[in-house]
Amino acid sequence: MKDECELLKNCGFFQKYQEVKDLACRGFIRMFCRGPRMEECKRKQYREKHGAPPSDDMLPTGQMVAGSQPFEGGLPLKGWEDLCPIESPPL
Ligand code: SF4
Repeated sequence: MKDECELLKNCGFFQKYQEVKDLACRGFIRMFCRGPRMEECKRKQYREKHGAPPSDDMLPTGQMVAGSQPFEGGLPLKGWEDLCPIESPPL
């Protein structure tokens, strides 16, 4: 298995959130970008389907980071807190 996602360097989510220290959602990076679930990443699937990357605020699970605006065709915001129990990043 690869050590990290091949899209890492071009991924808006990773670029935006990798340095956010107090964001519990960094667990997503461990699980997806550099972990066993990278092939399940919804951002990757979105990019393959649409030929363009989704919003930087879309999580690998397909939901949006709290406080961000959903985008057209995006998945509902509701319930993301259960998946990502950490506070939203500073604005
Ligand atoms: S969020 Fe998805 S597409 Fe982006 S680097 Fe992580 S695994 Fe790859």
